[in-house]
Amino acid sequence: MVTFEDIYSKEFIDLFGQKKEEIKQIEVLEEPPYINLDKISDILQINVNYTNENINEYDDDGKYDDEIKEITLKQNKPSTRKHFTYAHELGHAVLGHSGISLRANASKSDIDILRRNKETVANQFAAKLIMPKKLLLDEIEKTIKESNLNENELTEGDFEFIVKKLAESFNVSVEAMRYRILNLGLFVK
Ligand SMILES: [Zn+2]
Repeated sequence: MVTFEDIYSKEFIDLFGQKKEEIKQIEVLEEPPYINLDKISDILQINVNYTNENINEYDDDGKYDDEIKEITLKQNKPSTRKHFTYAHELGHAVLGHSGISLRANASKSDIDILRRNKETVANQFAAKLIMPKKLLLDEIEKTIKESNLNENELTEGDFEFIVKKLAESFNVSVEAMRYRILNLGLFVK
C-alpha cells in the first residue's frame, strides 16, 4: 500500500499543518488519476459543490470560500480542467490564502500583484499535488517498458507520446503535463 507519505516531500506534507498526520496516511489510488482529491477535502473538512452558474470575476472555473470552507467548481468543464481547478482551490485552502489581509492603503495594483501571486502559488501547489514527481517517474518507466521505447535514445516523438500518455493517466491537459515534466527536468536533451 502506497500512501501520501511515500510520494510527497516532507516539505509538501508540512503545508497541511495540523492535518498533516492524517494527510500522510491517505492511500494512493491504484488506478488513474491516483490522487483522491475528495479524500483530502474530507480531511480538511471542506465542502465541495458543482455549479453551472458563473462563479466570480476572477476564477471562472472555481473558487474557494475560506469563511464557510467551501470549494465551488464549474460543472460543465472538461474533466482534466476540473481536476486541476479542484487541486488549485485546495491549494488556496491549504496555503491559507483568504487569511491574507491587505494593507489599508493598498492600491489597486498592489491587490492585483498579490492576487496574481496567490494564483501562481496555488497553481504550483496543484501541479505538485496531482502530478507528484515520484509517480510520474514510475509512470514514465512503465510507459517506456510497455511501449518498447528505447530508453537511451528517446526521440522527440517518443517524448510527446509519453507526455500524452501521462496526461491521460493523471487526468490533466497535455500542456499541464508537458510543463510539469520540463519543469522537473525529468528528461535531458
Ligand atoms: Zn485561484
